[in-house]
Amino acid sequence: MPYQFECSKGSCQFLIRSSSADEVERLVRAHVRMTHNGRLDVADIERGTERIELA
Ligand SMILES: [Zn+2]
Repeated sequence: MPYQFECSKGSCQFLIRSSSADEVERLVRAHVRMTHNGRLDVADIERGTERIELA
């Protein structure tokens, strides 16, 4: 089951998709660190992460 994270911070268009929840979280944290100076807490990451089903 793939996971997808869509950043909803401001006008950020960052979108990541992976079959691994761990990888999504790792890439999201890297994105947050570089783009938002680390200003996104775990709750925001969890809220932005969703499971998706591929047709
Ligand atoms: Zn972002």
